[in-house]
Amino acid sequence: MKTNSIQIGSLQLGGENPIRIQSMTNTPTADIDATVGQIVELFKAGSELVRITVNDSKASEAVPLIRRKLEEMKLMIPLIGDFHFNGHILLCRFPEMAQALDKWRINPGNVGMGKKRDENFEKIIQLAVQYEKPIRIGVNAGSLDQELLAKMMDANASIMVPISDEEVLIEAMVKSALQSASLAEKIGMNEENIIISVKMSEVKSMVKAYELLDKKLGELGKAYPLHLGLTEAGSGIQGLVSSSAALGILLNKGIGDTIRISLTPSPAGNRTDEVEACKQLLQSLGLRSFSPKVTSCPGCGRTDNKRYQELAEEVKKYIEEQMPVWKEKYLGVENMKVAIMGCVVNGPGESKAADIGISLPGSSEEPVAEIFQNGVSIKKLKDCDISQEFKKSILKYIQNTYA
Ligand code: SF4
Repeated sequence: MKTNSIQIGSLQLGGENPIRIQSMTNTPTADIDATVGQIVELFKAGSELVRITVNDSKASEAVPLIRRKLEEMKLMIPLIGDFHFNGHILLCRFPEMAQALDKWRINPGNVGMGKKRDENFEKIIQLAVQYEKPIRIGVNAGSLDQELLAKMMDANASIMVPISDEEVLIEAMVKSALQSASLAEKIGMNEENIIISVKMSEVKSMVKAYELLDKKLGELGKAYPLHLGLTEAGSGIQGLVSSSAALGILLNKGIGDTIRISLTPSPAGNRTDEVEACKQLLQSLGLRSFSPKVTSCPGCGRTDNKRYQELAEEVKKYIEEQMPVWKEKYLGVENMKVAIMGCVVNGPGESKAADIGISLPGSSEEPVAEIFQNGVSIKKLKDCDISQEFKKSILKYIQNTYA
């Protein structure tokens, strides 16, 4: 189902818009310089929205100053405030902060308990209506409304054929999100200013939760855009693979309007890795293009792996370094497909399928590397610097195709 298109600062999200990439800073928001630095870094890496935590008075005071610094740099980056526990208090006490943010994320699981929860939630929504700010109702398995969950667990235990605890949890996640969205609309929030997420840390459960949410929204005729994320995905390869599996399944079914890949960075790692991961995921699914796609084989005993790996690395690096200039100069260059292959087994086939490709000679083949362009052999390289020659051919192809 087509979702609503929502204006978030200078950016539109949902509807026919591309799947938006977002990320979150991990600097203390009160540290203005560090936070501005990281926001800019994330934005330059490709994060179209950046979320910052607003957890106390100092962070609240910092938000308008952060916004001002970004404006001085002429960077209109959509900023999202992340609120837990005390959002109703901070948003009342710091109107400049409320105004400086482009969207607020609220967690219905921790806005308060019992009667207080509805009162606090109502206060936040009234302010969002007053400031005309879109909100994300961000339900998270780790902070789900425990009263709702306990009620649903008890009801399930008393029926003849109870469903599993995991299924109850998923249903509770979706119910919490839908109830909160419905309450927000009753308070006065426009449907077209609401985004929803139901994040969980287990891939299968998270996928089921979003599928159920998508189904229920269809039944209700509601078109809230969905923010996808596998929460607490972990670090390194584990986090990348888990997030890609979860988000990939949903995006491939047309579910999701904006994504975040929540990676735990290594102590020496870079926060922008999560943005790069989002870009790679969207590009590999054919949903967006950011940079030329380089297809390369894994290499095996049939080729000189050192030479092959070095060529693949050099060409990738060359493309990365040139892209800032190329994307300004050559429209559509990000859609180019390059192949770098290790031997005659799959080399010519993959190279012909790419826009431009090279098939290196395997260990027992005649020492000739062949370059293909648009499916046709254009050059055979022997006794020369293969890397330099291939890079020259790539540049020539770009100049002839995208200028
Ligand atoms: S293309 Fe050749 S070198 Fe590359 S993995 Fe296949 S068989 Fe091995």
